Amino acid sequence: MEKIVIIGNGIAGVTAARHIRKNSDNEILIISAETEHFFSRTALMYVFMGHMRFQDIKPYEDWFWEKNRIDLKFDYVERVDTDTKSLQLKSGQSVNYDKLIIATGSKPNKFGWPGENLNGVQGLYSYQDLEMLEENSKTAKSAVIVGGGLIGIEMAEMMISRGIEVTLLVRESVFWGNVLPQKDGELINRHIKEHHAKLRLHTELKEIVDDGNGNVAAVITQNGEKIDCQIVGLTVGVTPNVNFLKESNIQIDRGVVVNEYFESNIQDVYAIGDCAQFTKSVNGRRNIEQVWYTGRIMGETLAQTICGNKMAYNPGPWFNSAKFFDIEYQTYGWVFAKLQEGEKDFYWEHPKGKIALHIVWDSSTSVFKGINVFGIRMRHQLFDQWLKGQAKVEEVMANLKTANFDPEFYSHYEKDIIQKFVEETHKNVDLKPKTWWRKLITNA
Ligand SMILES: Cc1cc2nc3c(=O)[nH]c(=O)nc-3n(C[C@H](O)[C@H](O)[C@H](O)COP(=O)(O)OP(=O)(O)OC[C@H]3O[C@@H](n4cnc5c(N)ncnc54)[C@H](O)[C@@H]3O)c2cc1C
Repeated sequence: MEKIVIIGNGIAGVTAARHIRKNSDNEILIISAETEHFFSRTALMYVFMGHMRFQDIKPYEDWFWEKNRIDLKFDYVERVDTDTKSLQLKSGQSVNYDKLIIATGSKPNKFGWPGENLNGVQGLYSYQDLEMLEENSKTAKSAVIVGGGLIGIEMAEMMISRGIEVTLLVRESVFWGNVLPQKDGELINRHIKEHHAKLRLHTELKEIVDDGNGNVAAVITQNGEKIDCQIVGLTVGVTPNVNFLKESNIQIDRGVVVNEYFESNIQDVYAIGDCAQFTKSVNGRRNIEQVWYTGRIMGETLAQTICGNKMAYNPGPWFNSAKFFDIEYQTYGWVFAKLQEGEKDFYWEHPKGKIALHIVWDSSTSVFKGINVFGIRMRHQLFDQWLKGQAKVEEVMANLKTANFDPEFYSHYEKDIIQKFVEETHKNVDLKPKTWWRKLITNA
């Protein structure tokens, strides 16, 4: 029996622990410093907006851990000594391990802006950030959110739900413009304005102004505009949370450098989740993946290796989903902000401007590369199969009815989409009737 110590009780660490327990009798200890128990970070906004209580976003009851012989320690790891295989904790204790899993997540970026440490300036990552936002929004009338990304738009929605006026500063010409193509981003721009948030495009932060008492009074943009506010949300991306490892022998670049088995340069030390940085990209994906479901897959995969069934990370085609106020977004495969060489695309948008589809394929082979959908829900498994099997764009388009899993009483737009697709691309596509979707999946 070995002692497995996991630093970080987020989705990656906890999934690893659960699966190690399923597959072995090893001793398991999770050390984490944010909250005593695992919670769903992605649902923090719903706690703030009053849709859920904090206890509702804890996926497991508090008794789960003891029952499953997973020991928890609420403490901060200050140092890792890989020679003695020991950890030094903030409480003064030290802990030994046979195998160590680093799953310490991310922290919000700061870029050294003047005033970035004033009261009222904050990111949104941790439970403590949520508490701080709760405090900061008690008296705030207006907020400026810096950065056009998924956490920024969540913060905007949270502020607006409390009647706080929001201005978003976005460097690109459209919201999330380093990820979304222009037309997709324009749809989101319009939607943000409909929700009465002000959107400053092509705008970067220059400095944050002090009110004379150490609190935020305003921001000044690179364009020279001064915007009064009492809260500044810094949502300009996140960085792996690995500073505490700097003195150790573990190789750090932006994150903990690992191979496809999550092995670091030191034997018996692994990293998973947001803090892991792959030496080689897996399936064309980014070297650092800061999304929930990949943390879960990494935890599950590493547990296999730890339990003697060595397994490489193989997450399959990229997908992601998010929400921009009330527009749901899903993406499967790769739809880049700018078309890549040799790619063609087709964009359809409903006249009401809240539903859209953007599909990309290889212009010479017609092989389907990726799709963005807004306000339409698609079946993940089907797109996964199409991407893995290099399906042609014609096959994907012809089966849109089956790919859509919106309930029957929702409006469906496949006819309009196909009509425009055929007009624009001159491709021969006949929309097929909806079929039992599992029929389209091999081995289902
Ligand atoms: C507001 C918000 C919304 C999001 N929404 C989505 C979404 O809709 N979809 C999606 O896919 N992703 C979303 N994400 C990203 C997703 O939540 C993360 O990718 C995921 O939670 C990372 O999991 P993790 O287990 O790697 O790390 P984390 O969840 O960050 O857990 C790591 C834990 O380790 C602790 N820790 C760090 N260092 C130490 C140390 N030295 N000692 C002890 N403990 C330590 C940290 O305090 C933290 O509790 C969102 C993130 C945020 C902040």
